[in-house]
Amino acid sequence: MGKSRLASVDTLQTGSCDHCDVSVGGPDLADGANHYSEAHGYKVVHVGGFTSSDPNTGRPLQQSIVVLQANDPPPLRTPAVREILEGLPEETRREVAKKLLSQDSEG
Ligand SMILES: [Zn+2]
Repeated sequence: MGKSRLASVDTLQTGSCDHCDVSVGGPDLADGANHYSEAHGYKVVHVGGFTSSDPNTGRPLQQSIVVLQANDPPPLRTPAVREILEGLPEETRREVAKKLLSQDSEG
């Protein structure tokens, strides 16, 4: 059968769902968890909180996280453009995003 996989949503990071372009995470933590559950058949396996530090101020931040598991999840969206973009410096990211957008409009 299909492979089990995990997904997580947390309150500090907003991103796309692993399977579609719906935005998950951030303040609407429950919305993201519900999305995984209702749209893609995930079940919540862990709800928790932890403290991390703000990368800019060094102040402690309270973070909540929901971890979900699916036993036979749908295919991941490909390519994971958003994750790749998020790892790039902002200037590069803008250039790449511009190129991607212009490719889109050309069909
Ligand atoms: Zn989704």
